[in-house]
Amino acid sequence: PLATLNDPSLLKTDALIGGEWITGNARFDITDPATGEKLADVANCGPVDCHNAIVAAERAWGPWRAKTAKERAAVMMKWFALLNQHADDLARIMTAEQGKPLAEARGEVVYGASFIEWFAEEARRIYGETIPSTDQNKRYLVIKQPIGVCAAITPWNFPIAMITRKVAPALAAGCPVIIKPAEATPLSALAVAELAQRAGMPAGVLNIISADADNSIEIGKVLCSSDIIRHLSFTGSTEVGRILMRQCASSIKKLSLELGGNAPFIVFDDADLDAAVEGAMQSKYRNAGQTCVCANRIYAQAGIYERFVARLSEKTQALKVGNGFEPGVTQGPLIDLAAIDKVERHVADAVAKGARIVVGGQKIGERFYAPTVLAEVTSEMLCAKEETFGPVAPVFRFDSEADAIAAANATEFGLASYFYSRDVGRIFRVGEALEYGMVGINTGLISTAEVPFGGVKQSGLGREGGRQGIEDYVEVKYLCFGDI
Ligand code: ADP
Repeated sequence: PLATLNDPSLLKTDALIGGEWITGNARFDITDPATGEKLADVANCGPVDCHNAIVAAERAWGPWRAKTAKERAAVMMKWFALLNQHADDLARIMTAEQGKPLAEARGEVVYGASFIEWFAEEARRIYGETIPSTDQNKRYLVIKQPIGVCAAITPWNFPIAMITRKVAPALAAGCPVIIKPAEATPLSALAVAELAQRAGMPAGVLNIISADADNSIEIGKVLCSSDIIRHLSFTGSTEVGRILMRQCASSIKKLSLELGGNAPFIVFDDADLDAAVEGAMQSKYRNAGQTCVCANRIYAQAGIYERFVARLSEKTQALKVGNGFEPGVTQGPLIDLAAIDKVERHVADAVAKGARIVVGGQKIGERFYAPTVLAEVTSEMLCAKEETFGPVAPVFRFDSEADAIAAANATEFGLASYFYSRDVGRIFRVGEALEYGMVGINTGLISTAEVPFGGVKQSGLGREGGRQGIEDYVEVKYLCFGDI
């Protein structure tokens, strides 16, 4: 699938450290999740490469922070333009290594690029403040300065957007970054880095250290314990987030964590049924259910339950599963065989405990799973407690608004939530009662560069995107002027 790139030089397989492409002492294979075939081998960086990247980034920090915000933004805007210009090739690379349908991959390229544009614009608005003095002889000033060298560890489900969402605010604030992309999807990361080089990113400002699963753990230890790295941003599982947080304790590193979700999607009796089904389809099946904001638990009120399940099942049945390069395909493969196993486990558990499969409920070949609707799902089932991260829509029945809120909040996670209602009072009540960082009201799509994305409870720390997204990358400094 990679033979058809318009610009074959975007297919980079070496790591980028200090502006140099590094072949590395070892390599590891990248495979196509739709076929299991090898696509390329990529530099397998280890602790030594990681140290080199830290040294290069530290060296680059002074000159990068010394640039004006406008100068940094100019490089970023060139990078943004190049991502859009090469969107077709980037989408092909992404579909090849990640599996999502080509149209979705292209959408992610544009979405990913939008964070670079947004934070390039925000670079000039990192305002400080003056504080009215309580002492006639003193004046108080607050400025914001770049935090220092930053590290980012990113997941495979959004191979480009999860990188740009972290890197763009860091660069805008004046911080160099070291990125450890997911082991399944480094080709997208490296192509984006190649475009940063073409945009004129100075050596050492943006470093990518690709690594396999084992080396990622070793690199993680080096990044976390480094005194030079002042901030670590991670998107991935809550389990790994906990490990990284623990490892960062020794250096008291600032952390941004975007961890697991268990998104509730509530449909009240008074909802617009068609809109709710449409929203559920978008929220549930994007990336074959492999996003941290995908509806994981769908709650439909008793009065609308049967109609909702019927309509959702009809639409689910119409989804087209296949290789992401095939025209019309809306559901690609799952990322790996372990992901298929987890989905199978969740469905088997639900059925054993009394759920009914309305559509789907089985694998298609080895690497694909049929989009599935489960009815009569209850809170005892695994799919109520864990993120399924696959194309399964479990529908729970509820009676009252209070029951729905209690069920929705009965989880340690708190990332995205959704509900459908036409009652303005209920919209405020439920919107305020949901213990989540984000609430979609009469919509299944909430992500965009201009808004603060992030979770509460064990879904993470900090916000990405929005004007808030830059705050983790600056330190506040208070200047006290005496003897006025
Ligand atoms: P996912 O469930 O999305 O695969 P993970 O949390 O396993 O999420 O992985 C997300 C990212 O974290 C990947 O880049 C992976 O290589 C990295 N990772 C996993 N375990 C560790 C670890 N112990 N230390 C550092 N990075 C890790």
